[in-house]
Amino acid sequence: MPTNTTSAYSDFHLQFIAGEWQTGKDDSTNTNTNPYNGDTLVEIQQATKDQLNEAYDAATQAQEAWAKQTPAARAAVLYKVVNILDQRQEEIVDWLIKESGSTRIKAMVEFGATRAITLEAATFPNRVHGEIRPSNTPGKENFIYREPIGVVAVISPWNFPLHLTQRSIAPALALGNAVVLKPASDTPVTGGLLLAKVFEEAGLPKGLLNVVVGSGSEIGDAIVEHKAPSLVSFTGSTSVGKHIGELANGGEYIKQVALELGGNSPFVVLKDADIEQAVKAAAFGKFLHQGQICIAINRVIVEDEIYDDFVERFLAHVKTLNVGDPNKQDTAIGPIINEKQVKSLKEKIAKAQEEGAKMILSGEIEGQVVPPHIFTEVTREMDLSRNEVFGPLVGIIRAKDEDDALSIANDSMYGLSSAVFTADMQKGLRFARGIRAGMTHINDISVNDESNTPFGGEKNSGIGRFNGEWVLEEFTRTHWISMQNEPREYPF
Ligand code: NAD
Repeated sequence: MPTNTTSAYSDFHLQFIAGEWQTGKDDSTNTNTNPYNGDTLVEIQQATKDQLNEAYDAATQAQEAWAKQTPAARAAVLYKVVNILDQRQEEIVDWLIKESGSTRIKAMVEFGATRAITLEAATFPNRVHGEIRPSNTPGKENFIYREPIGVVAVISPWNFPLHLTQRSIAPALALGNAVVLKPASDTPVTGGLLLAKVFEEAGLPKGLLNVVVGSGSEIGDAIVEHKAPSLVSFTGSTSVGKHIGELANGGEYIKQVALELGGNSPFVVLKDADIEQAVKAAAFGKFLHQGQICIAINRVIVEDEIYDDFVERFLAHVKTLNVGDPNKQDTAIGPIINEKQVKSLKEKIAKAQEEGAKMILSGEIEGQVVPPHIFTEVTREMDLSRNEVFGPLVGIIRAKDEDDALSIANDSMYGLSSAVFTADMQKGLRFARGIRAGMTHINDISVNDESNTPFGGEKNSGIGRFNGEWVLEEFTRTHWISMQNEPREYPF
């Protein structure tokens, strides 16, 4: 592991606006706590609407000069960011554990994904390109320019705060845009302020990245409704995403939106699957980060013939998982992000039993640590199947056959990720193509994200795609410019 010879970042009680670290001017305070032991990590005086306006002014001003920088100059900043991430890996992983309750395993996965998207974004300044198209008008040439979109508003969630923030801001900046970011209230450091420190150290010019920590009531709507952003990149729940979508297009200024929302990933095990491998995959894809991942396995669907065998082996495997302190190397399941989420999980456990699901594994909830809960004989109508769980509870549904499994898999208002296990790759491919989702993985978990493949969903899981050329298109604007090289004849 690379060692860190520089001193650790500090002053996370400040906002990063217009390239300066400044005190928030709102009366309210964000108390940032460790979800495992309740320790206070930092108290942040929150930002006012005026400070948000200041951030947007700075971003608007800085963006023009940034867009004119050479691709090499913009790429150099991104490569420097990768170097700094490497140097500070331990410090960053430590923050992920203490602020977001990440287990060590999850923090390393998140660090790797963050590094990968930064490296991918560093190639964007030289990959972005226009086109020349033929014209049916004599003497005309058509040029399609691809330009920076301008100022991008980024709103990110708490579950993979570092990565899900970086997958918006790194491409946005690489492509010549400026950013105003509002991190989630539970993760203001790993979701924003820490990245601001890294970009500042990498020499990003002032004003291009602004991190505004504020309450939803003070700046939540204002960040979307402001005139400056041409694009709002939101990652979070479907309910808030719908609200953001309405705000972005129902107010005075119309703007583009990229919405990465909730999921309800099916994990299908067909009767010819390698059951042992499927069991291990189901446990990791369900319980990584306590199940608090948009693409986590939400419904395990198993073909009737192997259902009992799968359940027995899954139960035995899950019983071996270590639960508790996320900082310990071998902990698989750490704490839930906040008390509100713990309360919602307790309600889901009660509801599953009320609805007739059989609870075959449970345990004491201590503080914010919820041990794994397994329910069998779950039906597609039950709450566990219909809604995103976002916790270490899992329902296993019995499917009559392959067709029934596909019908259950598609019976959801979400369409983010999905997975199918089978020994027959052709069958797997046919099944995968039948699923209405943005992503399907054959013989693997639904939790996959690669910086060069399109990440996103359909139905209530959102609009747009991250990564590779998909985000490159999303974070730029197209401009058709035609050149009439000889006088054109007009009908009148
Ligand atoms: P959330 O919707 O509660 O919050 C997301 C962000 O929106 C936070 O920064 C929050 O402060 C902000 N926010 C809340 N109300 C707002 C308002 N009125 N105006 C502006 N901003 C507002 O989601 P969460 O609880 O942080 O994250 C969990 C949800 O996110 C889950 O549903 C999960 O599936 C989803 N998610 C989706 C993806 C994806 O890529 N599709 C990735 C991670 C999480």
